[in-house]
Amino acid sequence: MELDVSRALARPGQEFPFSGTQAIADQEIYGTVVRLDDCAVEGTFMADDEGNISVRGRVDTVAHAPCANCLQEASARVGNEFDEEFIRNGDPEDDEIFAYEGHRLSLDKLVMSYAVMALPIRFLCREDCPGFEEYLDRTESPEESGIQHPFAGLRQLLDQMEEV
Ligand SMILES: [Zn+2]
Repeated sequence: MELDVSRALARPGQEFPFSGTQAIADQEIYGTVVRLDDCAVEGTFMADDEGNISVRGRVDTVAHAPCANCLQEASARVGNEFDEEFIRNGDPEDDEIFAYEGHRLSLDKLVMSYAVMALPIRFLCREDCPGFEEYLDRTESPEESGIQHPFAGLRQLLDQMEEV
């Protein structure tokens, strides 16, 4: 997502609103792939007398990843607020700052950083997901849950043979 800041450069000190959406690439976090919906971005930008641009606003999206307990698909709302300055003719290779040249600045790095920063550490399909415990409980007592034990049929067959 790009901002055309020529209006702001012509009127330092005046705020201009903007909004848009930006796609964010899948993120791998602690070995889990997190997929993000297109991110909604809105805010304002303003130039100072040196031509540096302050950009304030928020990012909102939904992230999807396997549930930490049961591995079913889970999703989480992700929102974050930003307030950054883009330095005019700053070094684009410097990771510590945001920089731009001319009259267009790219919000790609900013939007991705703020969305990824707000990701939950663990995804859960629901707040009280019991995970595999529920599954283990059921398989340990097949009679109660009605799950067919894989060897039940074989045992029955052996019993019948012993009776003969
Ligand atoms: Zn779950």
